[in-house]
Amino acid sequence: MQRQKQKEFYVTFQSLGLIKPLLETLASQGYETPTPIQAKAIPAILEGRDVVGLAQTGTGKTAAFTLPLLQKLQGRSGRGKDRVVKVLILSPTRELAAQIEKSVRDYGQKLSLRSTCVVGGVPIKRQQTALRNGIDILVATPGRLEDLVSQGSVRLNNIETIVLDEADQMLDIGFMPAIRRILKLLPAKRQTLLFSATMPREIRKLSADYLDDPIEVAVTPIAKTADKVSQSVMHLPADGKVNAMTKLVRTHPGKRIIVFCRTKRGADKIARKLNSENLGAAAIHGNKSQGQRTRALDAFKKGTMPVLIATDIAARGIDVPGVELVVNYDLPHVAESYVHRIGRTARAGASGLAVSFCTPDEIKLLRAIERLIKIKIPALAADGTPLPDHAVPQPPRAVKRPEGKQNSRRRHRPRRRAQS
Ligand code: AMP
Repeated sequence: MQRQKQKEFYVTFQSLGLIKPLLETLASQGYETPTPIQAKAIPAILEGRDVVGLAQTGTGKTAAFTLPLLQKLQGRSGRGKDRVVKVLILSPTRELAAQIEKSVRDYGQKLSLRSTCVVGGVPIKRQQTALRNGIDILVATPGRLEDLVSQGSVRLNNIETIVLDEADQMLDIGFMPAIRRILKLLPAKRQTLLFSATMPREIRKLSADYLDDPIEVAVTPIAKTADKVSQSVMHLPADGKVNAMTKLVRTHPGKRIIVFCRTKRGADKIARKLNSENLGAAAIHGNKSQGQRTRALDAFKKGTMPVLIATDIAARGIDVPGVELVVNYDLPHVAESYVHRIGRTARAGASGLAVSFCTPDEIKLLRAIERLIKIKIPALAADGTPLPDHAVPQPPRAVKRPEGKQNSRRRHRPRRRAQS
């Protein structure tokens, strides 16, 4: 497998080769920069290559495969052709299938293409009717698709591209035999795209069996980076973050610092506070214009403005060498984001520093991160001195619901069953 060359610097949707109607739609949705998986996968898919995308939800992977597929179908709608499908997207769950189809409609709003979603649990009749006149993009769960195929309601011999989304989830749910059966029904000459958050042996095998010389794009540099970063977590009271931030910047003079913050308002607030103390900072987030963001980034790169405060989305696709300190002002709700954030430092073999602020409310997020990275992050007190285990705050206990309101029947979420 060939790994695509890294090119994340200042990539724009235009430079990826997307057509105007798609660019306009993206602009109207407020997307400014492609995420790393988009930057890598879109050109490869447009070229017609098979792709294995190692990426989890939240990386922008849906747009990474939907946009180029829409572009390739543009002007070639199969509308009106009997039971023909051109692009098939398979999803492990009904919810994800619906979400993907909504993205297909949203991104394709300026193109006249037909899409539909077929999943189990709803009457099949309407799905049969929708398929009768041909569909450009069909999003489906495997079981219902097989039912429709066996009834002759859909033909798979015109499929140009198949997308297997969240392949590892399909494996967990037990869909692998169905996936292999479906793949066997497709024309040999086709494009196959496989996305998965992890790459267990069975998925590698599936890829080896059914993909043709795929390009692998991975957006999780995960553990290796984390190893080189010296990490610590500073336990603070809820109102202690702003002062701790100021102190941290003061004690790292001349260093390039990226601060991650959960909200745009929070990012602005920290920037104001640091600037009021002459500690040169700028915030970048979705409410800033492209001009403001570019200026902030340039100043940060030149070193004239040492602190960059960013939300996770705004920081996507940004790659600045020489970041010495990453501060997690707020802990991320998705543990994997922690790895992406601290990966901003310790690039190219350099060592780096990552300090995370943690209030009692955030202890649970901290534990989830530690479970993911399999490291117990050394704890510090607010003054920066090591905090022994017994002094680490405990998460607040859940408030007991008043008598009579306890729901004794369904304490536990039922196990998810295979759906289709
Ligand atoms: P996904 O990983 O496909 O579930 O996407 C995660 C979220 O990111 C979705 O809510 C998308 O709308 C959003 N998103 C995808 N691409 C971009 C982008 N380039 N800029 C901003 N938001 C994006």
